[in-house]
Formats: sequence, structure tokens, C-alpha cells
Amino acid sequence: SRRPLTRWAWVEIDRGALRRNTRAFKNLLGPRQKLCCVVKADAYGHGAIECAKVMQSTGADMFAVATVDEGVHLREGGINAPILVLSEPPLETIPMLLEHRIMPSVYTSDFALAYGEYAVQAGTVGRYHLAIETGMNRIGVHYTEVLDFRRSIDFHRGIVCDGVFTHFATADDIDGWDYKLQRRRFDEAVAALRDAGMECGVVHCDNTPASILDPESHHDMIRAGIGLYGLQPCDATRSRLALEPVMSVKARVTRTTHPAMGEGVGYGFTYRVPRTTVQICTLPIGYADGLSRTLSNRMDVLYRGERMRQVGNICMDQCMVAVQQTPIHQIREAEYGDEMTIVGRDGDEEITMDEMAQLRGTINYEVACGFGMRLEKVYR
Ligand code: PLP
Repeated sequence: SRRPLTRWAWVEIDRGALRRNTRAFKNLLGPRQKLCCVVKADAYGHGAIECAKVMQSTGADMFAVATVDEGVHLREGGINAPILVLSEPPLETIPMLLEHRIMPSVYTSDFALAYGEYAVQAGTVGRYHLAIETGMNRIGVHYTEVLDFRRSIDFHRGIVCDGVFTHFATADDIDGWDYKLQRRRFDEAVAALRDAGMECGVVHCDNTPASILDPESHHDMIRAGIGLYGLQPCDATRSRLALEPVMSVKARVTRTTHPAMGEGVGYGFTYRVPRTTVQICTLPIGYADGLSRTLSNRMDVLYRGERMRQVGNICMDQCMVAVQQTPIHQIREAEYGDEMTIVGRDGDEEITMDEMAQLRGTINYEVACGFGMRLEKVYR
């Protein structure tokens, strides 16, 4: 028996869509190529354990997270596949990494050697992935220095290189000079390691856009994130791989009222009721749930398949919506408990993460992560 929702606002996760998206990425790969599912930030707000279970049963070979804590969370949730932390964590986390078989990314010899020392003491070996800096200027060993770096750590019997990787800054433009340069630098660094007889393990560099747009760069594994959740990373991928949105966001009306003409709504009265026929409905979802306050008076929600305008400043935990007749349809006034769609489809209308991202001046990644922060999740 499920715990009841403690509030009339929730995120719905479509497991079927997640499974089909995961399969779509598997289908981009050859039989020996692997799929690493990026489930950092609680699976981009979709719920890491539930999503990882669906992905694991659909053929995910590895999971990538941003923090050791996220990796431990997956282990405690019963995920057995290899887990990679996408940056080099603090030295203090080394015991946790070994205890839970979580692989760090490595790019300092201090970390690598401390990891090796601890592994030897614990009677095990520490597997790691070598991060290579090829141009994003974020993390990794500079591509010209990988041989020296490996020579400085490879003597240690406590560590084993399980993979080498880089990350693209401009994979939405695979014909561009910047992308091609990063790819060339990566391939050169990998070739140098191999020529020197050094173990590379699983070679990987592709995020969602590179996975879709540039099959030649798949190497041994792709690291897909956003696409698994049914969101397109850029316009270029849209026509190349059909994906189904996994998350929708819904709420139920907790109160309705017909204020007199001229009455204000919400903090600061940034909206005033223009006619007595406007019905003001309260929804129990606000900016602490990922509904950015910058959307106030600018976003729509769906009610009975029609767009209604959100009105007044969005509050921390609630917001208001004006239900009014559209020029085309007679709308039944809302009642206590009626469902409204913040993101998702209702009849012929749809509000997408992309629409919301555009209104906010950000990307769909940030919008999805935001909704994951506090809203309860319902898995279907
Ligand atoms: N690899 C690394 C190192 C990342 O930081 C990310 C996410 O930002 C990904 C892969 C997944 O990227 P995407 O969600 O665009 O597929």
C-alpha cells in the first residue's frame, strides 16, 4: 500500500517512456558497446533509484552520478551495476568509494595514490576512470599530459584504470571546429596511452547530443543523460531520435474564488482581477517546487485541455491560476479537487519542459531538476 500524497501537487514518472527511451539509446549501439545512464541529480529530478531500476532491467551497463552520496544512495536502493562518479571526489570519501564499489573519476596523483594506499590496506583494488581535459576547461588531466600522469601513478598496485573519458562542451554542433578539436585531442590521448601499453579500460566521451549526432564517436560506451528522460538536448537531435517525455507535473485545485473587480492576487498584487467573471484557483505548487518565480504572470497551465494563465506572483508553495472563458470554448468553472497540468499533455494541448525553459531563459535540464527537488513522485 502506497503512502498517500501529502499534497495535491506531484510529479508523474512514466516508466514505459523511460524504458522505451533507454531502448532507443541501446539501439544506437553495436553489440559490444555499452550504455552508461547518467542518473546524477536524482536522475535529473526523476528519482534515481526508480529510474535506475528501469534502466538496469532495460540493459544499462553502468550508472554515472555527480557525488559519492548519490552513488551510495543507488547501492542502498539495490543497484548492482558499476557506478562512476563524474568528477574526483574529496579524499575523505575514499573509504566510502571502496566499501560501496563506486568508481571515482581521477585527475590528481594525490587522489590516485591515496586511493591506492587505502585499497591495499583494505585488501582490494580501487578501480577508477581517468578524466581527460580536452577543451572544456572543467576537469581532467590535460590531454598532452596523460602519459606523464599515468607514469606517476601506474606503479601503484592498489589502483586499476577501468576507463578513460572526456566530456564535450559543444556536442550540439558536431560539424563545428570546437567539437572536432575536442574529439581529436581525446583520440590522440587514448592512442598515446595505448601505444605506451597502458590499460585504458572502457573508452567513452559521448553525452546525449554526441551519441545521437555522431555515431563514429561512440567508442566503447556512451554516457546518456537528458535523452533518457525524453528531453532533447538541442534542436539538431530532434529529427534524429524520437524520445518520449518521462516527467509530467500536475496539481489539484485547493480553493476557488471570484474576487471583486480590481482586487489583487498574491504578494505585491502584480495581477488585479479585470472582471468579476474571472475565477481565481489556488494550486499547491510554488517556487520551492521548481516553479520558478520568474514565470509569474507569464506561464500557462492546462485545465480541461485549455491553456489558463497563471496570475499573481508565484509563492514559495502555492500559486494562483485564472480560469476564464476562452474565445472558442465554454469552460466549466473549476472545482475543489480538479486536476491541472503544469507540464505535460491534456487533450490536444501540451506544455513542455522546453516551453518552460524558454520562458525562464534556461535549459530543460534545469527545469526538470527543479521539479525533482520537493514534489512527491508517482511512478506509472
Ligand atoms: N557526462 C558528463 C561528464 C556530464 O557532466 C553529463 C551531464 O551533464 C553527461 C555525461 C550527460 O549529458 P547529457 O544529459 O547531455 O546526456
